[in-house]
Amino acid sequence: MATSRVVRLPPLPSIRDLIKLYKLRAMKELSQNFLMDPRLTDRIVKAAGPIKDGEVCEVGPGPGNITRSIIQRTPSRVVVIEKDRRFTPSLELLAESSPIPLELTFGDVMNFNMEKTFNEANLREWEDVCPPIHLIGNLPFNVSTPLIIRWLNAIASRNNAWRYGRVRMTLTFQKEVAERMAAPIMSKERCRLSIMCQNWCRVEHKFTIPGRAFVPKPEVDVGVVRLIPVKNPVIPLPFDVVEKVVRCVFNYRQKYCIRGVETLFPRPVREKLSTEMLIAAGIESDTRPFQLTVSEFGRLCSAYVDICKSTPDYLKYNYRASKTNENWPLVDNLQFDDQQNLSEEHKDDSKI
Ligand code: SAM
Repeated sequence: MATSRVVRLPPLPSIRDLIKLYKLRAMKELSQNFLMDPRLTDRIVKAAGPIKDGEVCEVGPGPGNITRSIIQRTPSRVVVIEKDRRFTPSLELLAESSPIPLELTFGDVMNFNMEKTFNEANLREWEDVCPPIHLIGNLPFNVSTPLIIRWLNAIASRNNAWRYGRVRMTLTFQKEVAERMAAPIMSKERCRLSIMCQNWCRVEHKFTIPGRAFVPKPEVDVGVVRLIPVKNPVIPLPFDVVEKVVRCVFNYRQKYCIRGVETLFPRPVREKLSTEMLIAAGIESDTRPFQLTVSEFGRLCSAYVDICKSTPDYLKYNYRASKTNENWPLVDNLQFDDQQNLSEEHKDDSKI
């Protein structure tokens, strides 16, 4: 039988003392909120599942509070990626006393490519069990939402960390965002983030941490979410296509879905092709977006792709841009809107 599941670190100054010692005033610009209670940092790491002997990449370690909880569970190696170099001394101190290798990387996680970060021996086929590699992080909300969209795109393409197989993530989000990610059909939280996350991952909203547990205290509570990439996405189509259809349909969350479908096509063919698309997908035009399952979105995406086969330029049609330029401009770069726009989407709810 295995002995103790956690190891004790040699005595270290408390995180609170390190913050004082190195004058690590939380920077508002980086939305830094530190989690001081080791029971909570332990709980986040526990939510990741068994990490013993695996590899962990922690994003946004700050002074190293979650990092301590990770090390105590004895993975074979920890890599951290932190943007703020002021945390170098406290992280170096931790690296020196860590019984396992702790590697420090400084930079922006948004540009951090993990294709070569992990041990090749930990690479698994996509259909195989998940590799013993975990991504863990308590990031600022303004980073975690765009980051998960970027990572879903990487999961769809099986690049970045997902070159190693179905790498699991345990991340924090604003509680409302966590609820949207896991929201079931018909719920008031159901939005495009729900469809995007649930298409490529199993989403588990593990628990909520009250805002008062952080220093300084954010105005919102925090949801801890575990995401496990699925073997077969419900919609096996490219990320950009799924993103565009889901975004357009959810642009009018409380209206009949035909209203959103119409925004996929330029004005002259809008009515005809929207009706054709809904018929091909077998969806009643008076269904509302939050009443659609992920697989019904899949049928909509397939019908859209079929229509675009005869006129590929429809794939580039951008409804918002066309509002200011009736010559239906073609926009190549499809983007998932950020958290602010997710809130915009929900503003629509209150209007109807
Ligand atoms: N892990 C610590 C904790 O739980 O107390 C700190 C969490 S604090 C909410 C977020 C951390 O992410 C900060 O240390 C901040 O400097 C870092 N951070 C913010 N933006 C980042 C980015 N784009 N890339 C990497 N780290 C980032």
